[in-house]
Amino acid sequence: MPRKILLIDDDRLQYRLTQALLSQSRPPFELDWADNYDDGLKRLMDGQYAACLLDYQLGTRDGLELIREAVGAGCRTPIIFLTAESGESVDTQAMNAGALDYLVKGEINARALDRSLRYALKLADTLEALRRLATHDELTGLLNRREFERILTEEEDRARRFGRPLAMVLLDVDFFKNVNDTRGHAAGDEVLHEVAQRIARGLRSVDRVARYGGEEFAVMVAEANAAMAHEVAQRLVEAVRKEPVKLSDGTELPVTISAGSAEMRGASMRASLLVQIADKALYLAKAAGRNRAMPATAITAA
Ligand code: GH3
Ligand code: MG
Ligand code: MG
Repeated sequence: MPRKILLIDDDRLQYRLTQALLSQSRPPFELDWADNYDDGLKRLMDGQYAACLLDYQLGTRDGLELIREAVGAGCRTPIIFLTAESGESVDTQAMNAGALDYLVKGEINARALDRSLRYALKLADTLEALRRLATHDELTGLLNRREFERILTEEEDRARRFGRPLAMVLLDVDFFKNVNDTRGHAAGDEVLHEVAQRIARGLRSVDRVARYGGEEFAVMVAEANAAMAHEVAQRLVEAVRKEPVKLSDGTELPVTISAGSAEMRGASMRASLLVQIADKALYLAKAAGRNRAMPATAITAA
């Protein structure tokens, strides 16, 4: 499949020229053209391009502004800035806005363009891999704790502002230390991986799930109140209990988890408090014999 590049430039001549230069790349790049700011931004945000070449001056609009708007909206397509003249300040501004490289229009030839694109593609891949490392847990592939807390705080703001419900579940593997002690640490890792998959499979795509600690998981249940979160918690406990975990040595191991759930209530509620309350409910589930879910409402009753 040819790699598709998007050119955002109000000048048709630049489109023809870029097309001619790119046709010399091996393997070739295919070029699409947007001749104004709004169309360019829209197509860039569609995310179907391997990279974007962006003109500094787009009629009365500014290419830097377009980069900032795209990056602010989560665009990860590598962007190479095209300017009419070289200058350190444009260079710095473009990089600060989020461009990966910049080329001076009058100096572009097929080799320079090809090189810049290949470097930008490679750098974008590396950045994506780093981003994943920084936000995900390696063993389970779930979000890591830091990323979960970042998302939870963001959702907390949204929920408060729009008066929407928000709830979470904390889950912890029961007697997990025994698994490590009797079957070894590698078997423990296998169990964690399988439990993580069962939890993730039991959720809607809008819910977010993280490995919150060693053998502890957290779920953010979007648009859910306490009752709904408790239902989710019960379902996840059941998903782990219902069949033993098959280990790679062919043996089977029964595993259970305990869960505590809580909902965000009132304008003063903070995400950190939500986690604390869910943790208290989880503690109650442990104290009541494990392999069960407890809602936060049980805390005051206890
Ligand atoms: P409880 O039912 O009260 O939760 O008991 P528990 O044994 O699960 O709880 P405890 O907190 O005492 O033990 C958790 C264990 O999880 C201790 C730690 O060695 C183990 N652990 C933490 N992270 C990992 C990991 O990445 N891999 C493995 N194999 N074990 C881990
Ligand atoms: Mg445990
Ligand atoms: Mg624990």
